[in-house]
Amino acid sequence: MKIIAVIGAGTMGNGIAHVFAQNGFQVNLIDISEASLEKGLSTIGKNLDRMLYKEKITEAEKESTLKNISTFTQVKIGVENTDLVVEAATENLEIKLNIFKDLDALCDAKTILATNTSSISITQIAAVTQRPEKVIGMHFMNPVPIMKLVEIIRGYSTSDEVTQTIMDLSQKLGKTPTEVNDYPGFVANRILMPMINEAVETLFHGVAGVKEIDTVMKLGMAHPMGPLQLADFIGLDVCLSILNVMYNGFKNPKYAPCPLLVNMVMAGKLGVKSGEGFYDYSESRKAEKVAAQFSS
Ligand code: NAD
Repeated sequence: MKIIAVIGAGTMGNGIAHVFAQNGFQVNLIDISEASLEKGLSTIGKNLDRMLYKEKITEAEKESTLKNISTFTQVKIGVENTDLVVEAATENLEIKLNIFKDLDALCDAKTILATNTSSISITQIAAVTQRPEKVIGMHFMNPVPIMKLVEIIRGYSTSDEVTQTIMDLSQKLGKTPTEVNDYPGFVANRILMPMINEAVETLFHGVAGVKEIDTVMKLGMAHPMGPLQLADFIGLDVCLSILNVMYNGFKNPKYAPCPLLVNMVMAGKLGVKSGEGFYDYSESRKAEKVAAQFSS
């Protein structure tokens, strides 16, 4: 495998592109939004600078990683001659089904089509293509350059050969691939999202405030980050989509998203990416924090 296309340059797509490029693959990063591509490249640059500062990579490695990434707004050109496409576009069934229909028509017959979906059925996505045996879930964790796990999800028709290729490839990226089967939420989110949803319910019912809930989980359960802060990092819209997929998939009320989560998403409070979620990430707040550091 040499040439990889990544569809979507958002939170996950830029991280996936970064990791492949750093490991010597040629990466075509594709997004419908020019602004997302610019933001994605700038994030990769900042993350590489941080790694350089911490002496985890050399200046030459930073340069070669950036050189390995090209950006495209047209899928048709971006997927030419690719061995693998990793789709990391918005978590929305209709968007993903349209992307996979297009990819199936545009890509070589040999190309493996992977999706980074957090919860949508791999089997359903594969069914809109003529190559369901070559469609697989490759679920990276956020932030991709740091997190070791890749949840590898076999759809109903995914072949053994394709599963093995993607397991081996993930190892080449320095990750730990873990194979699971295709049911709503897979393993990671089936366990994580009910915890996040319960934290939101706890807040909704006035049991405790945001900081208190996160402190209990951080210090009491040794979690590196509280569930509400983690939800902000994942994106509250992404959390809501995943819960809805599990709620509809299992027809079980235990996965029903908390009304507070629904309201926050409707109000555009999506967490870090929108500048506000359970916590405030706005520029003015960041400036206040920096000022506080200097004055203390
Ligand atoms: P995001 O909203 O940050 O980025 C999505 C990007 O997709 C945007 O830049 C958007 O312009 C682009 N896009 C939308 N439609 C497109 C299309 N038709 N063609 C090309 N680009 C398109 O979303 P994200 O958080 O990066 O999530 C991407 C995927 O990764 C989702 O399936 C999500 O469930 C999954 N995921 C997210 C996380 C997380 O922590 N955020 C973790 C693991 C997996």
